[in-house]
Amino acid sequence: MAYQVPDLPYPYDALEPHIDEATMRVHHDKHHQAYVDKANAALEGTEWEGVAPREILTRLDELPDEIRTTVRNNAGGQYNHCMFWRSMKPDGGGEPSGDLAEAISAAFGSFEDFKSKLKDAGVTRFGSGYAWLVHDGSGLAIVSTPNQDNPVTDGQTPLLGLDVWEHAYYLGYQNRRPDYIDAWFNTINWETVAERHADVG
Ligand code: MN
Repeated sequence: MAYQVPDLPYPYDALEPHIDEATMRVHHDKHHQAYVDKANAALEGTEWEGVAPREILTRLDELPDEIRTTVRNNAGGQYNHCMFWRSMKPDGGGEPSGDLAEAISAAFGSFEDFKSKLKDAGVTRFGSGYAWLVHDGSGLAIVSTPNQDNPVTDGQTPLLGLDVWEHAYYLGYQNRRPDYIDAWFNTINWETVAERHADVG
């Protein structure tokens, strides 16, 4: 089945004041839809049609040369944005608890150190991309990826992804990516992140 853009799991204005309604509308309805449309167009009629984005992103080297880059960018856009919407919620933020909190402390020293490292990864990602909290097989780590790449391609499990494309923040924050990242921390759905972390174990 062709990919589809899922509805947001909350209203467009639900993340205000941290992320504004206009940004959410254009990001979800226009940008995410464009990735889906381009991925579907590239995959249609090939043996890869209907294969889940996550699986495709782990098998990019098997794709036909003529569609590999388009699929990498746009199936990546589908997978990353589906993750991104579900990683946020109204009245989110705060700190995780339980096993995830312990794993963060073990990996980064403290929750504040984790936030600092994730923010730094987002601020220093040149151009467009994402900063990630991943499980790398031995523990938690912070990485960043360009464009719509996802850590699954490198064998890591993404737990939380921060979209630092300008389309994610420009209407509300213009060039102030660090301010957007500070605000985004107030939207994190730690329950979802904890579920992803539990699945790794
Ligand atoms: Mn985006």
